[in-house]
Amino acid sequence: MANTCQYCSKKIPISKVFCSKECKENYFEKAIINIPKPFVKKLYFFCNEEEKEAEILKFCERHKWKEHLVKQKIEEIYLEYFK
Ligand SMILES: [Zn+2]
Repeated sequence: MANTCQYCSKKIPISKVFCSKECKENYFEKAIINIPKPFVKKLYFFCNEEEKEAEILKFCERHKWKEHLVKQKIEEIYLEYFK
């Protein structure tokens, strides 16, 4: 029997919830990241790639959130609401 890591979906022993400390931290940090839908809309519909990168970077710095987590979340919102 095995579990899968709540963050990266890697197979792990049944007694564990995450495969590593990083995954645990990423999971909880990602959970508190809150991205406004209009921001996502702006990124995808009114920005070119360069502007999009710059906007995301500014957003991460302002909130002190990890860029790769913010990007994951932005993509999730995009797929859920705008696709
Ligand atoms: Zn993991």
